[in-house]
Amino acid sequence: MKEHIYTIPITDALNEECGCVLCSIEKKLESEAITYFLGASLMEPDAREDTNKNGFCRPHTKMLYEGGNSLGLSLILETHIKEFSKNFTLNEKTGLFKKPDTKETAKKIDDAVKSCSVCNKLNSQMEAVARNLIYLISKEKDFKEKFFEKGALCAEHASLVLSLCEKELGGKKGTDLYNEISAMQRAYLEELYNNLHAFVVSFDYRSNGEKPSEKVKASLGEAVKYISKY
Ligand SMILES: [Zn+2]
Ligand SMILES: [Zn+2]
Repeated sequence: MKEHIYTIPITDALNEECGCVLCSIEKKLESEAITYFLGASLMEPDAREDTNKNGFCRPHTKMLYEGGNSLGLSLILETHIKEFSKNFTLNEKTGLFKKPDTKETAKKIDDAVKSCSVCNKLNSQMEAVARNLIYLISKEKDFKEKFFEKGALCAEHASLVLSLCEKELGGKKGTDLYNEISAMQRAYLEELYNNLHAFVVSFDYRSNGEKPSEKVKASLGEAVKYISKY
């Protein structure tokens, strides 16, 4: 049997938390990644090369800043900023070469701003987690039941899992799971829509101050979580 290192965390997350099962795993992996980049990675030349080149996105820069290691983060950003500065080239003709395309240069800077070593690490880990999730759904009846009972994945993780169903299971099995998960998402979103609609209506004077139910009140927070993860 193939090694499935994330099998246990997935089963645990399915048992303990509400909401998207992959979000609760990603949250833990994200916190481990922050600890790694502020600690062990500092002594690893490959990791330093990676952070020099990719840097960090906005939310992860903020998390690293709040991670309590000023010297560690300064060391990473010191060399990253030196590397990043190379993206700014002057728009002038040099020797035989034609003038650089400013749009291309601006795009290069934009790509460099958006790239992130933490996101890259998490993306590859989450793909492995999603593949294991599909494996568990296809092999273990109890797990599958629990997964579908629990309800939907968030938007981003639903898209990740759907993109892997056919690749992991192949043929009819892959298509069937793809359809089952899509149907689950649709049912969840229909309910979310109805609750959000009821919440909007509750603000109308014609609702005569009638208090919305807890579920209806929670729908805005749920919609935000569905879109923005965690
Ligand atoms: Zn999620
Ligand atoms: Zn990031």
